[in-house]
Formats: sequence, C-alpha cells, structure tokens
Amino acid sequence: MPELPEVEVSRLGIAPHLEGQQIAQIVVRDRRLRWPIPSEVELLEGALIQRVERRAKYLILHTDKGFLILHLGMSGKLRVVPRDSLVVKHDHFDLTLTNGQCLRFNDPRRFGCVLYSAEHPSVAHPLLVELGPEPLTEAFTASYLHAKAQGKQQAVKTFIMDNHVVVGVGNIYANEALFKAGIHPKRAASRVSLARYQRLVPIIKETLIAAIAQGGTTLQDFTQADGQPGYFKQHLNVYGRGGKQCMVCKTELSEIRLGQRSTVYCKQCQR
Ligand SMILES: [Zn+2]
Repeated sequence: MPELPEVEVSRLGIAPHLEGQQIAQIVVRDRRLRWPIPSEVELLEGALIQRVERRAKYLILHTDKGFLILHLGMSGKLRVVPRDSLVVKHDHFDLTLTNGQCLRFNDPRRFGCVLYSAEHPSVAHPLLVELGPEPLTEAFTASYLHAKAQGKQQAVKTFIMDNHVVVGVGNIYANEALFKAGIHPKRAASRVSLARYQRLVPIIKETLIAAIAQGGTTLQDFTQADGQPGYFKQHLNVYGRGGKQCMVCKTELSEIRLGQRSTVYCKQCQR
C-alpha cells in the first residue's frame, strides 16, 4: 500500500507536468472505484491547473474550476503519458491536457478514488476535514502530541497511527520510529513522557524524510510507460523481522498484533 512518502513522491513526479496546464478532457473508463467517480469531475474540463498539493495520502489538484481529489488506495498508480498512448487494463481515468499529455490513473484493486470538491477539500470534504496535522510541518510537535495523549489509554503505536492525531504515520514507520525512540509500542499514550515524545517526533520526521529522499531517485518513472516507483527499499530495524535478533542488543524480537496490525519490537530496548 502506498504510504505518505510514496504519495509525496507521486506528487513531486506529476506536479511539474500538470501545474500551469489546461485540462482538455476528463475520460472515465470505469467509475467503480472505492467510491464511484462522480460526474462533477467533468466540471474540470477547460480548467487551469494551478498546483498539486498533498494532504495526508490525498493528492489535491487546485484549478480555477474546483478541486480534484485523488487517492491511490492499495494499488493505484499515476503516470503522465501522451494522451494517445495505449490504454491498458485497469486504466480507469484520464485527465487529458491541451498540450497533448495526460494524467492516467491505473488501479487494479480499485480501492483508490477520484473525487470532486468545489471548495478546498480540507475545509469542505468529509474525508479530509477532520484530519490531524501533517507530520512534516511545524504543527506536529512533541508538546502537541503529549497534550493530545492526555487521558488516552490506547497503545502509543495505535495513537500515532490515528489520522485524527497526525496523518501519514503508517505501520512500517510507526514500528521503526518507536524502536529508534526506545518506546514500547503497547505503552499507553498518556504514559509516555513529554521528554520521550521529544525524542519520538524528530525520529518520525527523519524516517519519513529519508523515505521521500530515497523515492526522489524514481521521479523520471512517472513519465515512463513501463516503470513505476515501487515501495522504497529502506533499512528496517524491526518491521518484518519478528523472531530475528535485535540489531542493537541481539534479543529475539517480539511480534504481536496491535489494532490488527503487525507490531514488532525489542522487549529489551523498548520500554
Ligand atoms: Zn534490542
């Protein structure tokens, strides 16, 4: 599943090809995504694309005729190709440009979405209005997290993965960041001190920034017919390593389910 870094790299990959361009036509080949593609998306024909923004794992195209919201779901991929290039299976949606190019959305599993919003979706669209702050902004601080955790009995790992608390901390990043910060994933969010959140927050930011930087090497893939950036290979300390040795202390890593998600930690290094 594309996580925040993959979505940010998708934004970096498509934005230069879209910003300042005019939309010629909206082509819907199959409406049946996670939610049906609404006919309002056709209101964007003739619109000028001003910029491409990312909010959580949504991409938002700003135009002078409203906003297009895109989500990659489990398997969605975006590519900028000549508008007459060969359509393949699962190419559900095209946004063609007057310069002859098009933004093409392919999604085999169809958990992605393409939606329209007349107003900025962060204030007007139910999927986006209640999202917590972006992890890579100044709004996401240790004191914010510590204040938000007061009275919360839920496990700290579940807490930092909650989109209402902060967006974009997916399962891999939560596992890795808690290991690096030495925090036990099952510890109650309210029982993590401010000092420990002060250690955790920069680690979350660094982990995400490193993944985005790694994905930066794949930017040209967005305009190549064959290639698409896959998951960014990263150095993982705990995720996917249950039962193996801790890289720091050699203790066997424990694996449990927390909120239905695989959780791996070192009972020696994480308290
Ligand atoms: Zn250890």
